[in-house]
Amino acid sequence: VLHYQPQYDLASGRLVGVEALLRWDRPGHGLVPPSRFIPILEETRLIVPVGEWVLKTACETMCRWQGAGYTGIRMAVNLSAVQFRQGGLPEMVDRVLRQTGLEPGLLELEITESIAMFNEREVMGTLSALKALGVLLAIDDFGTGYSSLGYIKHFPVDKLKIDRTFIKDIIRDHGDVAIVRAILAMAASLRFDVIAEGVESAEQAALLRGYGCQGAQGFHFGRPVPETRLLDTLRAEGRRADTGMHKGGGLDEATARAMSALADAV
Ligand code: C2E
Ligand code: MG
Ligand code: MG
Repeated sequence: VLHYQPQYDLASGRLVGVEALLRWDRPGHGLVPPSRFIPILEETRLIVPVGEWVLKTACETMCRWQGAGYTGIRMAVNLSAVQFRQGGLPEMVDRVLRQTGLEPGLLELEITESIAMFNEREVMGTLSALKALGVLLAIDDFGTGYSSLGYIKHFPVDKLKIDRTFIKDIIRDHGDVAIVRAILAMAASLRFDVIAEGVESAEQAALLRGYGCQGAQGFHFGRPVPETRLLDTLRAEGRRADTGMHKGGGLDEATARAMSALADAV
């Protein structure tokens, strides 16, 4: 099953995206976290079909939310390095976008720095092909991998996700402050967006906002939850008020009522 964790814009305080996170509902064991089974899926290459299922499910979910009037949010999906190396990744993403009809600009794909260890030309080709589909690319767990900064500079990516190990002690640890500020300065000059992972307190959020970090994700804002619970959050945020009624000429009353009923049904 997929759970969804909200991502917030620190300046406006608005929910701007969600990340789809995989859990395995194993009978008799409850929900198994990805750290326990993703390595096995990767070893057995089962991550390829499972990864396609994740992407398709996340895109379908996003389409449903769009239809229910929850606009202005983006869906982030994690990709494994194995899916990357397998080949045919842009074709798979293109296929899923066509099957689900999701607007590519609403999809963000998260890749880890470890893909930078592969053949440079191949990686660039794949990243460019993904970008050409119109999706956004983010580098996950940034700062923990092996990629050289000189290398990342050439990546056609849109966003860096600062790994939560740098956020954890940011209130006390001057070293972490220095690292985070350096990442933010570099990202600003290379025109990458930045989101901090693992933000667990209001203090951390305030500090990051002060440093000019755009986005934040973490237990302080919301844990990964099933779709129904995330919809509760969207509703509580008054997202329904945004149902495209401000856009264009607005909806007539009957359409607005129908959309509202639809939103209650999902
Ligand atoms: P990730 O992509 O870096 O996801 C963030 C992880 O941090 C999630 O763990 C999330 O629950 C956790 N987290 C979020 N906020 C906080 C916080 O404030 N404090 C702490 N301590 N943790 C927080 P999760 O769900 O266990 O996922 C672990 C990793 O498994 C993910 O790291 C991602 O690399 C991988 N993963 C999850 N779903 C998928 C998937 O569908 N495909 C692939 N390839 N990998 C996945
Ligand atoms: Mg991620
Ligand atoms: Mg991460």
